[in-house]
Amino acid sequence: MSQVTKHHRVLIAGGGAAGITVAARLKRKGPADLDIAIVEPSDAHYYQPAFTLVGAGAYTLDATRKAEAKLIPPGVKYIRGQVKEFDPANNRVKLAGGTTITYDYLVVATGVKLDWSKIEGLRETLGRNGVCSNYSPDYVNYTWECVRNLNTGAKTVFTQAPLPFKCPGAPQKAAYLTADHMNRNGLRESCDVQFFTHAPVIFGVPFFARELVKVAARHKIGVNYQHNLVAVDGAGKTATFERVSDAARGERVTVPFDLLHVSPAQSPHDEVRSSALANAAGWVEVDQATMQHVKFPNVFSLGDVCSTPNSKTAAAVRKQAPVVVRNLLHMMAKETAEKGYDGYASCPLTTAYGKVIMAEFTYGGKVTPTLPLDPAKESAINWQIKTTGLPILYWNYMLKGHEWFPKHNTAFVEPK
Ligand code: FAD
Repeated sequence: MSQVTKHHRVLIAGGGAAGITVAARLKRKGPADLDIAIVEPSDAHYYQPAFTLVGAGAYTLDATRKAEAKLIPPGVKYIRGQVKEFDPANNRVKLAGGTTITYDYLVVATGVKLDWSKIEGLRETLGRNGVCSNYSPDYVNYTWECVRNLNTGAKTVFTQAPLPFKCPGAPQKAAYLTADHMNRNGLRESCDVQFFTHAPVIFGVPFFARELVKVAARHKIGVNYQHNLVAVDGAGKTATFERVSDAARGERVTVPFDLLHVSPAQSPHDEVRSSALANAAGWVEVDQATMQHVKFPNVFSLGDVCSTPNSKTAAAVRKQAPVVVRNLLHMMAKETAEKGYDGYASCPLTTAYGKVIMAEFTYGGKVTPTLPLDPAKESAINWQIKTTGLPILYWNYMLKGHEWFPKHNTAFVEPK
């Protein structure tokens, strides 16, 4: 086992949306010779927000994937590896394989773990028997295969995991696009679409929830609140839910399916959860406005792995990364971190083919649209933004470290 020790001025754990964006921005804003390294185990990087479209046959998986090596900004060292142990008291991490890396500053951007095994029987049947998920590049093509092969009378079931999970709208977006696909192919009247969610509401921001209830009703989707998927019988084609409301807690409900779309429970990776960086729930504990760790001032975190109570989205990363970079540079200049992140997240809700409600909001569910369009309305312009504009923004601007983006409107007043 290797015992090599290396040192980097800035070490970034995770080369996903957050890690690459921070590295690229630091290269633009920091000193030219700033020594930055990214540790990332995967050789492929996915634009995950388009997985919803891939699962609906409106985008290809190939178009979501790029080689990780090609995204590492010039001058940044790419360490192909996985952090196995965070030791922030000693400013070091240990990689699988034994290498130790010490650092002056650490950025933790390791995303979330998909907890498939929390659901009994799911692992064994995922990708077969009509059991699919847009949450993984390994299964998202199978979602579209299942949707396009639906027959008259099909029973379809869509599940939503307990919060927190990435992209709060993704589970219901899959249901809307499937119902619309059925409608366009003359199947809707004979088929059944059921959405089972752990939550007591359809969406966490009431302004958008009011519209989404109407969208679900228009699609004739049965919405079942406070149901948590606990078991799947792939061969028998049944899904079992546990009810989580006070009145019916623990009661089990088993339903048949021809297509089951699962959103898995999500958690921090074990190496984060077990470290001194984690809060009680396992997320990296940072200040929600500065993104600085509450106990280790030379550590920052952003993206899905951090503790901030925003919706876990790439859109949030876009607004968090400049704050992390500014504050890292402040720390290097012996200045204090400044507040800058307001909890912005965006969830383009694909309510049908060609239609999107662009849900944008900050901490506390305050609605903050970027464009001067009615944020409650489904729109074809927003579909173009989702399918064409946002991927360009991601690959060519965000991951290249550009910071100029249109500002969201924090002065927007919700109509009474
Ligand atoms: P990731 O991009 O997941 O990257 C984490 C990286 O860390 C990975 O590359 C991983 O390999 C690496 N890593 C893990 N463990 C370690 C370790 N121990 N050591 C080193 N590296 C490690 N967002 C939107 O804004 N809009 C949307 O419409 C949208 N829709 C979505 C739909 C779906 C189906 C999904 C799955 C996601 C969607 N998202 C959407 C969410 C968005 O993709 C994530 O919020 C975003 O990718 C988070 O970036 P991240 O860098 O924190 O995590």
